[in-house]
This record gives sequence, C-alpha cells and structure tokens, in this order.
Amino acid sequence: MTDINTDKENSEETQNSENQQESKVFEYFETVDKSIKPRIEEELKILYELCKIDEDLKDIDDEKGDLPERINEQKNALEKYWEELDAKTAELAKLKDEEGGLRKTIKKCEDKIAKYDEQKYNAKSNKEYDTIMKSIDTQYETIEKGEKRLKDLSEIEEILSNEIEELRSTSDEISNDLNSNENSLKELDEKYSQEELELKNKKENLMVRLEDHIRNLYERINKTMKGSAVAVVRRGNCSGCYNSIPPQREIEIRSAAKLYTCQSCGRILVDEKLIS
Ligand SMILES: [Zn+2]
Repeated sequence: MTDINTDKENSEETQNSENQQESKVFEYFETVDKSIKPRIEEELKILYELCKIDEDLKDIDDEKGDLPERINEQKNALEKYWEELDAKTAELAKLKDEEGGLRKTIKKCEDKIAKYDEQKYNAKSNKEYDTIMKSIDTQYETIEKGEKRLKDLSEIEEILSNEIEELRSTSDEISNDLNSNENSLKELDEKYSQEELELKNKKENLMVRLEDHIRNLYERINKTMKGSAVAVVRRGNCSGCYNSIPPQREIEIRSAAKLYTCQSCGRILVDEKLIS
C-alpha cells in the first residue's frame, strides 16, 4: 500500500511539476505577448539590423577617412604659426623703430659735429677750443655706439625677416592644404548627409525598441567593434573572429533563451537561421 501510495504521490508530484512547467512556459509567452518588449529573438534581430546600420555609418566615416582629424590638426598648427608670426613681426617692427631712432640720433650728431667744426675756428681761447673738441669727440662716440648697434640690429633683423618669410610660406602651404581638405570634407558631407541622417534615424528607432541593458551592451561593444558588434554563428564559427564555438554553446545560442557573446572577440552572437 505504502508503495502504491508513494507511487501515486510521485506520479502526482510529477504531474504537478509538469503542470507547473507548462504554466511557466505559458506564463512566459503570455507575459511576452502582453508586453511590447520583444523576446530575445526579436532583440537579436534588432541587434543584427543595428549592426548593419552601424556598418554603413562606419563605411561613410571610412570614406571621410582622417579628413576631420587632419583639418583639426591643421587649424591648430595654423593658429600656432600665426601667433609666432605676429610675435616675430611685432619684434621686427620694434627693432626697425630702434633703427630709425638711431639713424636720427646719428644724423643729429653729424649735424652737431659740422656745427662744432665751424665753431672751433672761431674759438676765442684754447679752453673754448678744447671744450668744442671734447663735444665733437662725444658726438663721435655716440655715432660709433649707434653704428655698432645698427650693425647688430641689421643682423638680427635679417634673421627675423628670414624666419618670418619661412613662417609665412609654411602657413600658406598649410592654409592651402586646409582649404582643399575642408572642400573635400564638405563635398563628402553633402554627398552623404541625407544617407547618414536616414541611417541615424533608423538606428534611433531600433535603439528605443531594445531593453536598456541590451542597448547598453550593444553600445559598449560597438564602441570598440565599430560597426561590427554583432557576429553570426556559421558552421560553428563566429563570423567576427572566425574562432569556433563549442557545440553546446551553439545550441544555447540557437535556443535564444538569453544573449551570448563570443568568448574570443566579445561580439554578440546571432544564430544564422534567425536572420536568414
Ligand atoms: Zn568572435
């Protein structure tokens, strides 16, 4: 009796457990049907579509290449060149001012010497003559100092002028290059702006359909795997890194009970049949 009872009990338990499982499965689908949230399969399909869009966006970026960065670098370089050019031009102007002042001083000294030269013949005493001669010497000293400084100035000015010339020609080259890069980028922007906008809109519409944690996961992977965050499982291999996927894992991926990422490359894995 006991045995039979136990059997009966066991059988009831099994029955109960089956019922429970059935009801769980039912509940699962019911919940899913009631909610707008798509099931994992749907999420995977969305992720696959998202990845295709990001791939297209990446192709457009690739077409633009490093133009945006180069343009930025050239703008920064030009700014530095112009600053240096301004500083050196100001320095040169200052030196030219000094040169002009010195030339005037020398001219004044020469005039004074000519005047003293005449005066010395009319000196009424030796003392007066000596004073005049001393004044002439002082003028000559000033002229000598001035001329020495003028010589130095002319050397510094020549170096500065050459540097300014070089800076100008280099900044002109950069400026021309920058212009042509900006034009190329503008043309590419015009060519792709509509397509880019459409792709971004499509992406946005797909993104909002994903659950938060799945969207975050996708964005995180897409940051490093630009345009290739999702890989397809084909003949037991990850289409992203070509590493093989263990058969048990492949079955789990196919069942789409949860999201799996490739153990080698980290891409989100989608079973081939799901997207065909
Ligand atoms: Zn992989």
